[in-house]
Amino acid sequence: MYPHHISPAQIRQVAESGLPENAGPRNKIIVVGAGMAGLVAAYELLRAGHEPLILEARQRVGGRIETLREPFADGLYAEAGAMRIPRVHDLTLSYCDKFNLKLDPFTMGNPQGYYFFGGQKIRAAQVEQDPSLLPFDLAPHERGKTATQLWREAIHEIQEALRTRGEAAWTGIAQEFDQFSTREFLEHKGWSEGAIEMYGLMADQEALMNSSFLELLREDVGGFYEDMFEIQGGMDHLPNAFLPTLGRNIRFGARMIAIDQDAESVTIHYETAAGRLSARGDYAIITVPFPILRHVEVLKPFSRAKQRAIRQLHYDASAKILFQCRRRFWEEDEGVFGGGTVSDLPIRVTYYPDHGRETGRGVILASYTWSEDAQRWGSLSPRDRIAQALENLAQIHPQIKDEFEAGASKMWHDDEFAGGAFALFDPGQQTLLYETIIQPEGRLTFAGEHASLAHAWIQGSIESGLRAALQIHAA
Ligand code: FAD
Repeated sequence: MYPHHISPAQIRQVAESGLPENAGPRNKIIVVGAGMAGLVAAYELLRAGHEPLILEARQRVGGRIETLREPFADGLYAEAGAMRIPRVHDLTLSYCDKFNLKLDPFTMGNPQGYYFFGGQKIRAAQVEQDPSLLPFDLAPHERGKTATQLWREAIHEIQEALRTRGEAAWTGIAQEFDQFSTREFLEHKGWSEGAIEMYGLMADQEALMNSSFLELLREDVGGFYEDMFEIQGGMDHLPNAFLPTLGRNIRFGARMIAIDQDAESVTIHYETAAGRLSARGDYAIITVPFPILRHVEVLKPFSRAKQRAIRQLHYDASAKILFQCRRRFWEEDEGVFGGGTVSDLPIRVTYYPDHGRETGRGVILASYTWSEDAQRWGSLSPRDRIAQALENLAQIHPQIKDEFEAGASKMWHDDEFAGGAFALFDPGQQTLLYETIIQPEGRLTFAGEHASLAHAWIQGSIESGLRAALQIHAA
């Protein structure tokens, strides 16, 4: 019923000029979830003449794009979810362009930022010049090299294969390395424990060492952390831009609780504050994360393979802790404009905002953590998270105690409509689960960042949403 393979070129084509013309029937399509996957799918289907209805459990669009404007003072905001877009994410940038959103540079590496390890605060630029300033116990052949240099050497052969053979090289790379965690890959390359610790801390990979090496490799060689942008005024401008077109097609406060289908139609049962209701359509696109789907009743059971994928797909945790500061002391006192500081404290990574300079104030991302680093913040009460993160940050920037005005935190792994921060393959899961994750089940198609190979990025959610729209449009 569905076209089996949809190419990246076909998907890009939809982002550029909409779904292909076809004289097929006008279908009623239930889209569950108004995150980016659901929004782009519904938008393109509507433009192609279909009738989408989006059921969204929250009272807003955007899902894991969440710009917090409270509890901050007027004009200030911070990103609890997605905060940056790399230049290579063509699908994301194409929707920003379609809606005329203004982009500003998002500073990643800043030589003026710090490394704070073992109580020692050193500028990134100094470490770049003399890596031996750091307190890591390296093997003789590793001494004098930065973490980045060691990493580049480790993946040199893979990069050569990609340079000479292009995208086609990925099949062989996936076959050879899918079973490796990042830690296993580094051990396989002969790295000392000191080098693994140094790379883990500095590249912010320590908590992700047991995840699939391919996840990190794809981001790194794909340039996902290079040449980045943020949306002027807040990332929520992107999902909100769909509202003028799609607003009437969305039902907010509608939580899917059961899915049913027969040969002719699908039925989504959902709950609102007014009780239980159901919506019937010709097809449905399910974009909710798999941890959420586990708690949805499936009246006509999915294939065993799909059930296994929903059970087994690994999701990562992520925590953000944000502080409103009365003064941009990192800029005024220390000359740090944008970028971040990395430490071995529980806060781990701090980002200095590029936006908000006109207010004189700033909302600093005091702590951004993943995996177990994030789980540990989740075990604290919201009040203790702020207090502990303040103590941590004061070791690096003592000024914070005088300048702190308000704090907020977001634990994605405890969010009832996310169930985790994002999908992140365990070793072996790409081979084992990917094809099954994206496979339709009868009249249901699946989208969301988890149904892509760009996990944890808006790009992945858009790609999967467009794929689902194409599948239904061509069915
Ligand atoms: P979601 O946005 O999660 O959408 C799913 C929707 O389904 C939600 O609106 C949810 O409320 C709804 N829903 C859930 N359950 C139900 C139910 N039972 N019934 C009805 N509706 C339901 N990406 C980037 O490109 N750049 C970044 O800098 C970046 N940083 C990130 C940082 C963090 C901390 C996190 C968590 C993610 C980040 N991402 C980033 C990833 C990006 O935010 C996601 O990949 C993308 O927003 C996911 O979109 P989605 O549509 O797949 O899922």
